Amino acid sequence: MSFKRDIHGIGNFEAVVKTDKPIREVIPALIFKFPPGVVNYSKSDGTLTTRVRRKLVAFYPSGEIAISPVKGKSELMEFSERILKIINEAYEELKRNGPPTEKELKALKKLSPLTLYKYLPKTNCRECGEPTCFAFATKVITGEAKISLCKPLNTDKYRVNIKKLKKDFGERIANSLGCF
Ligand code: SF4
Repeated sequence: MSFKRDIHGIGNFEAVVKTDKPIREVIPALIFKFPPGVVNYSKSDGTLTTRVRRKLVAFYPSGEIAISPVKGKSELMEFSERILKIINEAYEELKRNGPPTEKELKALKKLSPLTLYKYLPKTNCRECGEPTCFAFATKVITGEAKISLCKPLNTDKYRVNIKKLKKDFGERIANSLGCF
């Protein structure tokens, strides 16, 4: 099975596209497809909102996907194609690995720049291009940087930090942060 989409409605600044099948079961798996700091999943109503390339995107169990802002039809076609690809990838991953566990959902809520900072070397060496480890942690949480850009974490001295991060948050959340 794979999902396809139709343009449902397009206004001046927002649009709604709709998949050809409901996406209720896929939505929880989408939490691993976006950076933790920009994803908001509501288990009670099964919706997920996030930001992708400066657009607000809301996924609804029925298959409706609201996108804002939208500049025009051609931009919407290209952007919604990308979103559809993410949905199909999440569906494949769901079949392979199952839905997120309660532990993962709780861990995701705890994940903040301060939490992530605790796993970094805290030397402010600037190798990642950021002035401090905390600034880097903030960018990783919002998806502006991948944790693999911190090269010291891939050395004998600090590799244990990554191991601990994976143990505390799980491989899937660690991967969504860009862990090596
Ligand atoms: S490369 Fe790593 S240790 Fe160095 S400043 Fe960036 S986050 Fe901190």
